[in-house]
Amino acid sequence: MRLETKAIHSGLDVLKESIAVVPPLNTSTIFEHDQQGSQPGDLNYTRAQNPNRAQLEALIADLEEGEACATFSSGVAAAAAVFQALEPGDHVIMPEDVYHGNRQLMKQLMTPWGLQCDYVDMTDLNKVEDVINSDTKLLWIETPSNPMLLISDIAELCKLAKSNDLLVCVDNTWPTPVNQLPLELGADLSLHSTTKYFGGHSDILGGAVVAKQEEGIFKRIRQIQITAGAVPSPRDCWLLSRSIRTLPYRMRGHNENAGHVARFLQDHPKVDRVFYPGLESDPGNEIAKNQMNGYGGMVSFLYSGKKEQTIRAVGRSELILRATSLGGVESTWEHRRSSEGEDSTTPQNLIRISVGLEHPEDLLEDLGKALG
Ligand SMILES: *Cc1c(COP(=O)(O)O)cnc(C)c1O
Repeated sequence: MRLETKAIHSGLDVLKESIAVVPPLNTSTIFEHDQQGSQPGDLNYTRAQNPNRAQLEALIADLEEGEACATFSSGVAAAAAVFQALEPGDHVIMPEDVYHGNRQLMKQLMTPWGLQCDYVDMTDLNKVEDVINSDTKLLWIETPSNPMLLISDIAELCKLAKSNDLLVCVDNTWPTPVNQLPLELGADLSLHSTTKYFGGHSDILGGAVVAKQEEGIFKRIRQIQITAGAVPSPRDCWLLSRSIRTLPYRMRGHNENAGHVARFLQDHPKVDRVFYPGLESDPGNEIAKNQMNGYGGMVSFLYSGKKEQTIRAVGRSELILRATSLGGVESTWEHRRSSEGEDSTTPQNLIRISVGLEHPEDLLEDLGKALG
């Protein structure tokens, strides 16, 4: 089946309990054992397994071309499970502009727990190679990166990782499987904040890890999911499965609208620079063309002005909402540095937009007025 078809049909037959076309929401936290004491469908207690979660995990695994998926109550909980699947003393390599929540997770929790981490520019293979040592176990990739939209070459990085026996995890939150399939490019794990495009309506928090193989590191991730217990509720799983049915068509809309916005900004006199891999002039365009099916809904740009003027421009929008996060049907934007806090290196005049599914002309009119 093709992706659009899988988004609609996958997972429906997992633990199917009735003839309903749409799987019912199953809120029971406990399941009755049979008279011999065995557990039909391996159902026992909802922290360990639940029909709605099993359906969601089968659906996401199928979309990402993976063998198995574990879902979590947030994207950072999913990332924490990947890190905890390593051993104290292990070394991890992350991009220098990695999503700031994952940087905080590494700094505040995982480094004190015993992991070592180097942050490097992943657009340069030599810089990655330079920091690999005998303790290195995991290469963490995020492309396009956040908020600079740098593109790194997944296939090349995976080759380098494999020749050094490293695991590769790609944070695929921004592209989604519609625009990028990391497991097909050689990665072992693909990670999601399902809070973003998977949910798509800014009303669900969640995370997922998909594995190329059910054996190996994934077994440990599954154990952490159940033992540490940062699992999503049945209701969130049910709603997320419903949202994913339309993911391929929503992503096409996000890709198309973001292309309009990026080109508009590129020609605007109040804009110094646009970061969007779909622009011919973008340094990541060549690699993005090879590894992506679409360039995504996120655009960053440098406003021609200082911090205060940049914040004022963001304040002038009437349609585009001032909010953090991304991936919803509504367009949002923010002065990114203010969101990232003290140790952020994001330029003070950078604005990040999550381009929604409104009519593009309405978005361009609002942008034109706000930028001045
Ligand atoms: C939001 C986000 C996360 C974290 O997910 P939460 O659901 O907020 O915990 C991880 N990676 C990227 C790229 C994100 O945008």
